[in-house]
Amino acid sequence: MSPLCVSQGGGVLTSPLCVSQGGGVLTSPLCGSQGGGVLTSPLCGSQGGGVLTSPLCGSQGGGVLTSPLCVSQGGGVLTSPLCVSREVLKRCVCAGLPPSELHEKQRSSLAAPLPPHRRGLCKLSHCQAGSLILHLSLCVSLCVSLCVSLCFIIHHVLAVLSQLQQQTQSQCCCLLLVSEDNHQLFCQVVGDKVLEEEISFPLMFGRFGQVVEKKRSITLQDVTEEECRQLSSMLDSEVSSLLCVPVVSRATGQVVALACAFNKQGGQRHTEADEHTIQHCFCYTSTVLTSTLAFQKEQKLKVECQALLQVAKNLFTHLDDVSVLLQEIIVEARNLSDAEICSVFLLDQVSHELVAKVFDGGVVSDDEEFRIPADQGIAGHVAMTGQILNIKDAYSHPLFYRGVDDSTGFRTRNILCFPIKDENNEVIGVAELVNKTNGPWFNRFDEDLATAFSIYCGISIAHSLLYKKVHEAQFRSHLANEMMMYHMKVSEQEVAQLLETGLEPVDEIHPLFAEFTYTPRSLPDDNTPMGILSMFEDMGFINTYKIDLHTLARFCLMVKKGYRDPPYHNWTHAFSVSHFCYLLYKNLGLANYLENIEIFALFVSCMCHDLDHRGTNNSFQVASQSVLAALYSSEGSVMERHHFAQAIAILNTHGCNIFDKFSRKDYQRMLDLMRDIILATDLAHHLRIFPDLQRMADAGYNPRNQTHRSLLLCLLMTSCDLSDQTKGWKTTRKIAELIYKEFFSQGDLEKAMGNRPSEMMDREKAYIPELQISFMEHIAMPIYKLLSELLPGASELYERVATNRVQWTKVSHKFTVRGLPSNNSLDFLDEEYELLQSQGALGDDSHCDDTHCLNGCLDDVVGGRGQ
Ligand SMILES: [Zn+2]
Repeated sequence: MSPLCVSQGGGVLTSPLCVSQGGGVLTSPLCGSQGGGVLTSPLCGSQGGGVLTSPLCGSQGGGVLTSPLCVSQGGGVLTSPLCVSREVLKRCVCAGLPPSELHEKQRSSLAAPLPPHRRGLCKLSHCQAGSLILHLSLCVSLCVSLCVSLCFIIHHVLAVLSQLQQQTQSQCCCLLLVSEDNHQLFCQVVGDKVLEEEISFPLMFGRFGQVVEKKRSITLQDVTEEECRQLSSMLDSEVSSLLCVPVVSRATGQVVALACAFNKQGGQRHTEADEHTIQHCFCYTSTVLTSTLAFQKEQKLKVECQALLQVAKNLFTHLDDVSVLLQEIIVEARNLSDAEICSVFLLDQVSHELVAKVFDGGVVSDDEEFRIPADQGIAGHVAMTGQILNIKDAYSHPLFYRGVDDSTGFRTRNILCFPIKDENNEVIGVAELVNKTNGPWFNRFDEDLATAFSIYCGISIAHSLLYKKVHEAQFRSHLANEMMMYHMKVSEQEVAQLLETGLEPVDEIHPLFAEFTYTPRSLPDDNTPMGILSMFEDMGFINTYKIDLHTLARFCLMVKKGYRDPPYHNWTHAFSVSHFCYLLYKNLGLANYLENIEIFALFVSCMCHDLDHRGTNNSFQVASQSVLAALYSSEGSVMERHHFAQAIAILNTHGCNIFDKFSRKDYQRMLDLMRDIILATDLAHHLRIFPDLQRMADAGYNPRNQTHRSLLLCLLMTSCDLSDQTKGWKTTRKIAELIYKEFFSQGDLEKAMGNRPSEMMDREKAYIPELQISFMEHIAMPIYKLLSELLPGASELYERVATNRVQWTKVSHKFTVRGLPSNNSLDFLDEEYELLQSQGALGDDSHCDDTHCLNGCLDDVVGGRGQ
């Protein structure tokens, strides 16, 4: 059964006896027949609004109750008689049961005369009856005050003690409370004095321990001289007689306190009657005492929680300095456990030493740090075992080294030493609290506290180190970026050289430069930057956007340098993709479909769309847990996000921002467009929006519809990206060679990692013609089909892709191997094509001019970087 007052939340009691509702308003009967077990009628159900603002029965002021229970309080007259027979009542109380719960037999025995040795007790004098009522009212007032405010409990203990003093005719009474862990007695009130600081002493020694254990009262004759001396000093006067009575909790049957009466008046000894008086008194109040103790424990827990919250707060405010952080934590631990000195050592795994980080509450600087062997002494023992060590008497402990005390004059009495562990439960340090100041040694509460602090220390250190690492990584990343940009740096000489002869008109690059039949891969690599500038000029961007030529030249050279050299995803690819965008502009009248800034964004995105490609795809980044995957995998399109980030990095490089004359709004628009367009190069994105594209084509394109324009931009980007398929057979054949070369080397890497590559990446499994045909049918052809539906001039592109697909079917019989031949060349596929061409069987589609260019350009590609 619950004690009288169960504390709930902030310590408001909700047990049957004391229903506290909203700030201590009692609306239900105070004392039913539970707990105190006596009162069968409500004690004070009729008190106006039921608000109890003062102790029920006049225990005001000094707390001595002189008036009977039923003083009418503000109309609060008790309408039912308190008890019929005081005698019965008293005996029932002693039996711990309310009369209503007694069996018939018990009732009759109560009604029968009492045995002679009990009679004295039962013959209640007026005074005794009053005192009983007083006990009751004390109990009630205790409960009430617990309900109203637990802070007043001490004052009620005062009242009880005062009453006991009077009843037992003692000079002074006190209550020694038994600590939670049964290791200590502590005392807050002596006689009529509330002690400024509670006195505590160990329970182990002397006779008090036996009172707790055996639940039997003792007198002065039973206590040791030492205890007598302690009591005298506690009382501030000589103890001539003593009665110490155990107070047993009704709930647990444990001794929760020792009630002591000192120095009976007239030099007499305390009598058995005194013992009974005390026992009777606590019949009512022991439960309240239990609650008090529970409340005190809760208070301590509250303080502990607050301290831990403070630690948690520090965790986030001192992350940048482990030493300061540790100091904050350990000082908090010291204050909370009332230790005299605190220190923290971190374990140096390399030198196998404990390094003092905080000593006596202060941070130890690096030059004055001191070290002790990690396996010696008390700290060493804790570091090695990982177990908390609570040493009650340091000097008698075999591990304690007295040398320091002897040289400093400091006296170490007791030590609480606990390990600090990391998240893997490995000891990373040791904390030491020395000399409990308000007790004989560190108690279980301190041990619990130490354990909690140990966890917090561990977490904070781990976080702090992590924080440091993150900072370092950030610096390293900045450094890497700086280095990359330095090495990518375009010299002024290169810029000047590019612009030396002015912008070359596009038709001077090649007469067919603006035709779909032109293969941009045929342009020598060195000429590509000028090719880009010429296209910028031809599309009118330089004029329209007031682009500084030097900035543009620098930007183009920088983008070119931003590409690596995998077989396919290199600058040549970027250049040919950009060129296709130019072709769309020139041949399909993009200006009728898109805003100028959107076309500009598309062109720049084409240039930048595969920046820093490493020849491996998105799933490879994730599978290999690459840095890029770590950065972007949560958002998807890992590589595409990186390409965009690289584009921004180049724009942010000094002298490279071709948009620097843009208004803030246009600038933001441009970056948003570039992001969306570059992210659209992820084929997974294309497949996602394909139904929308199809719907748009079916419904008819509307250039004033923002969504239409965005969708079209995505489709145009994909068309540019796959534009090799719209060129002649030799181009598509050569591109297949390059792409599979790149795919197979990724497949090789995956095999080396112990993973199984997909079929198209596996040189032992991939059957190129089949894969090509599938790619063209399922990806490429639908794209150009859709494009021709939206932009009528694009139908020739679709036708070309379809022709190439047919050619792949025709040559497939030539494949006798999977993967690529040992020379990594698909040249052998051209024989039949050339034969057909020489026979004129391919008609106009074959474009003889293409052959000439491709032969030149493709040889270059095989030999090195591409044209
Ligand atoms: Zn691409």
